Amino acid sequence: MSNHKQPTVILAGGGHTHALFLKKLQKEPSPSAHFILVSASRYTPYSGMLPRVISGHYTAEQSHIDLESLAMASNCTFLKATIAGLDPDANELILENGDRLQYDILSINTGSTQSRVIDALDCISIKPIRPFLTWLSHPLPKQIQQSEAFNLVIIGAGAAGVEVALALHKRFKNLDQLNIHIVTARGVLAGHPLEVQQMMSEEIQKKNIQIHNHFRVAGVKGKVLTSDQNETLHYDALILATPAAPAGWPAESQIATNPQGFIQINPQLQSISHQNIFACGDIAELAHSKLAKSGVYAVRQAPALHKNICQMLAEKPLEPFRPQSHFLSLLSCADGCAIASRGWFRARGRLVWLWKDWIDRRFMAQFPLPEPGSMKINDPDQN
Ligand SMILES: Cc1cc2nc3c(=O)[nH]c(=O)nc-3n(C[C@H](O)[C@H](O)[C@H](O)COP(=O)(O)OP(=O)(O)OC[C@H]3O[C@@H](n4cnc5c(N)ncnc54)[C@H](O)[C@@H]3O)c2cc1C
Repeated sequence: MSNHKQPTVILAGGGHTHALFLKKLQKEPSPSAHFILVSASRYTPYSGMLPRVISGHYTAEQSHIDLESLAMASNCTFLKATIAGLDPDANELILENGDRLQYDILSINTGSTQSRVIDALDCISIKPIRPFLTWLSHPLPKQIQQSEAFNLVIIGAGAAGVEVALALHKRFKNLDQLNIHIVTARGVLAGHPLEVQQMMSEEIQKKNIQIHNHFRVAGVKGKVLTSDQNETLHYDALILATPAAPAGWPAESQIATNPQGFIQINPQLQSISHQNIFACGDIAELAHSKLAKSGVYAVRQAPALHKNICQMLAEKPLEPFRPQSHFLSLLSCADGCAIASRGWFRARGRLVWLWKDWIDRRFMAQFPLPEPGSMKINDPDQN
């Protein structure tokens, strides 16, 4: 960097990539820059554990990273604030309270939420996760108990939708009046290997969760969903587990985004329009190879991001991130059993569950976690 003052590197959002970036910074400090982590929340979730938080196998605290403690240990300033905009030509990040933060280098890792296929009352997205967990603990059980028959409908049968459906079945197993439905336009686990789709469909059927295949939601009236084929389904509560969608603010700024609003990046993880801006994880879209919106890629991008920010600070050439074509997928069935697949390999059962548990606990063991009970997930004001 050519200016004389110490450059400021802002890490916008505390997703998986930035959490691992901070771990790397702890081991290899960069005295040449001032790092600031801006996060809407002190705690960030590790998505791989979430279905098993819902099913009661882990506490919320076991599945969240304490970003403030992590930043402190990495000699990085922590700022709890919500990002609302970006002025890339002025090198400014805009916060919800109107403040503007100047940066020399910006890295964006703010994740995604669910695409809103419909505007309905009683509709909640799985992400952001904290209000979703609060809703599961607070109003939902009471609403189910007060009803004679309660239809909980999940829109989307990707990995998140099916894992959450099975976890909800486990969580509310004593509430007989609860009926769980999944509606899906593309079928269970579209894009996954056929055997994995079959194994998961069997697990869903075993639990009497009703799957509505080829149900492309076209509208909602009162508490009835309508498909594009005019099928109808009554619901009492609706959960969105639809494909990942970006926040609106990147597309509203001057930074290059794809038609959906994801930030377009080159193989070095830089914005294709602004070289001093990096983006990674769900919010980013590699310009020439479409990667799944998966935590695996957000995790794998961390070493490349660390390397390239250090290289940029040292005014050296950047290196490309090389995504792997196959990765291990482990899907929890919420009952002590899980399904594994990678390339030609498939497995299902208790050992896979224990394997997933071991991988996820080992991942979280690198980070400071919130104190037990400190997240107050039952308190809506804490969201
Ligand atoms: C139920 C469920 C289960 C999943 N299971 C798996 C799995 O087993 N394996 C897998 O690979 N993937 C899984 N995924 C996908 C995975 O969640 C995402 O791909 C992953 O979280 C993306 O990570 P990220 O680093 O981009 O951002 P995230 O981990 O989503 O983090 C984004 C961070 O940015 C913060 N933030 C967002 N907006 C703002 C803002 N405006 N201002 C300030 N801070 C902000 C958020 O608070 C959050 O801390 C699952 C998803 C769901 C919903």
